[in-house]
Amino acid sequence: MDKIAKTEDQWREELAPDQYAVLRQQATEPPFTGRYVDTKEPGVYRCAGCQAELFRSDDKFDSGSGWPSFTDPAVAESVELRPDTSHGMVRTEAVCAKCGGHLGHVFDDGPQDKGGMRYCINSCALTLES
Ligand code: FE
Repeated sequence: MDKIAKTEDQWREELAPDQYAVLRQQATEPPFTGRYVDTKEPGVYRCAGCQAELFRSDDKFDSGSGWPSFTDPAVAESVELRPDTSHGMVRTEAVCAKCGGHLGHVFDDGPQDKGGMRYCINSCALTLES
């Protein structure tokens, strides 16, 4: 996979302020505020930073968390998992493999009949292509 390397200035110029904060500075959008929290529309969720295909609407489920939640990435290699010990917690960070953008976190309390994982993703890190 070709990785994308841009300077922080380039990213800041290209992305909206909320997207920059999440994708490049590991911010978390407030729960129940993102535009895709309750979206049921079929389509492909792409990275808001680099357009890589990350998730599919078929794998989206209602977690009640306030963030779009998926059981699986569209393609396993498109989402990189990294240990994250910030904010006094031990979590697994989900990162766009292509541009390195922060997407959200992964937890193991997802639907048991679908593998048990919950990819908890910031709406503003995604663009839905329906
Ligand atoms: Fe990306």
